[in-house]
Amino acid sequence: MKETFKPKYELTMYNSLTREKQVFQSLIAGRVGMYVCGPTVYNEVHLGNCRTFVSFDLIYRYLLFLGYKIRYVRNITDVGHLVGDVDTGEEGKIAKQARLEQLEPMEVVQKYTNLFKSVLGQLNNLPPSIEPTATGHIIEQIEMVQQILDNGYGYETNGSVYFDTQKLITEEDIYGNLSGKKQDDLLTETRDDLKNQSEKRHASDFAIWIKAGEHDIMKWSSPWSVGFPGWHLECSAMSTKYLGKEFDIHGGGMDLQFPHHENEIAQNVGACGCQPVRYWMHTNMLELNGKKMSKSTGNSILPAELFAGSNAILSKAYSPMAVRFFMLQAHYRSVLNITEKGLADAEKAYTKLLEAYHTLQQLKHTGEAQPTEDDDQINKLLDMAFDAMNDDFNTAMALAKLNVIIPKIKALHKGRLAITAISEATLDRMKEVFHTFIFDIFGLVDEAGANTASDSTGGDTSNLVDEVMQVVLQLRQAAKDQKDWTTSDLIRDQLQAIGVTVKDGKEGATWSKKD
Ligand SMILES: [Zn+2]
Repeated sequence: MKETFKPKYELTMYNSLTREKQVFQSLIAGRVGMYVCGPTVYNEVHLGNCRTFVSFDLIYRYLLFLGYKIRYVRNITDVGHLVGDVDTGEEGKIAKQARLEQLEPMEVVQKYTNLFKSVLGQLNNLPPSIEPTATGHIIEQIEMVQQILDNGYGYETNGSVYFDTQKLITEEDIYGNLSGKKQDDLLTETRDDLKNQSEKRHASDFAIWIKAGEHDIMKWSSPWSVGFPGWHLECSAMSTKYLGKEFDIHGGGMDLQFPHHENEIAQNVGACGCQPVRYWMHTNMLELNGKKMSKSTGNSILPAELFAGSNAILSKAYSPMAVRFFMLQAHYRSVLNITEKGLADAEKAYTKLLEAYHTLQQLKHTGEAQPTEDDDQINKLLDMAFDAMNDDFNTAMALAKLNVIIPKIKALHKGRLAITAISEATLDRMKEVFHTFIFDIFGLVDEAGANTASDSTGGDTSNLVDEVMQVVLQLRQAAKDQKDWTTSDLIRDQLQAIGVTVKDGKEGATWSKKD
């Protein structure tokens, strides 16, 4: 039986391969296969990478909202370009970190994988459906190298195997399209170490299997040599394994377009004979104070330092939700510049949005509605928030539209705008849409709500006001018992001043608060 599926809205997204916005159509109705290049786990995750993963979390969440069933695969790179230099015997990054920290290489991998997941958890990212590791898929990678060789797209030299880019460049016009590299540039490209130049037939060729040197710790047997896979191969092998030869969305940071993603396409075409990805998506860079983040120049900050306020670049700590909010204020394809002012503004705007949300949920419709133009305006703004998301996931624009509604929520709350100026259906829709956007689509957590929901002893504080008022009334009764009318009147009058009315009855005093 043919599956019928209609997403909640039609979605348009920018495809880096065709360089235009396209209406999204999944290969299988109602289902989406999405692959995002994951972290390399030999040190703490960079804030720039966090932005990429938050961006794809927003994309993932919006696709879920539209009603798709999604298989979201994000790999963990624990081998590949992290291994040492074959000829010079220079240590790989994982091996070096293992020596520095006196850990096993796999302990290093585990430690930074745990830290990575913890940071993304704090930023409230949803976990992917599958998180495969490169070392767990060596067999699949060896099989892919063999397929590439069998199909005539690779050659072996001294135990290493290279991808032959010539056919793709000159005959099939496939290599270079994603990154926009010209043929001439590719033919003179020398990305790989010079040591390999004698083994490679053309400058643009790249290694898919590398013969290990005696210093390499992470190495495996293969038909060609004891070695390890080239650093682009894992993504081709794992995306094919879990999403098929052809799948819907492949994402990553813009810096991965070349050579990583270009080489992925080449490998997939070489092994499977078809373009693997229908929509390529790339997120833009994150800058700090207008400059590229770089550890060596000191213009850099780690997520943990940002959350703890322990870096001299910033004067205070910013919570994970302030940071997440800051990120969703920009479109994923724009450069985002982190500044102290930007973070402080985001913190305020985040609080304002959550406060408006709580106020909105308290509003009740009474009386007969006589909808005015405000009703119409609110509905249009809600529509526009969805339009923005449907136009290449424009979270910044969607947020701006919701922000325009906030003063209206305040006016309704204060009575400056009569509740009858909007229909009950509009009020219900506002409540629902704000909830959906804030928690489901933007993936925000109510940090203040989470803090006030429990006190330091871990107990519920929702009854705290009642309990404190009982103490106050007992003190007043004690004053009255001693005929200390000055104190008892003072308590009553001070409470009245903050809107709390005390009534003396036969059963004792009661209190009420007017809004
Ligand atoms: Zn990748």
